Amino acid sequence: MSQKAVCFNCRRSEAEIPISNWRYQGGDVWVCSQCLPLLIHKLDQIIDVLQAAREQGEDDGPGV
Ligand SMILES: [Zn+2]
Repeated sequence: MSQKAVCFNCRRSEAEIPISNWRYQGGDVWVCSQCLPLLIHKLDQIIDVLQAAREQGEDDGPGV
């Protein structure tokens, strides 16, 4: 298992901040507690970032 819980927006890991797992378009999306309000209130602005993270999140591991 290589999947790491990293916020799709700010790239912080669960070691740094609480992170919750969401489902989007059939895949897993990790969102930290600080970025969660963006999903709720600014979804239109962040949806592109979310989809990009979904597409590249499968095989890369940039690390932090
Ligand atoms: Zn975040």
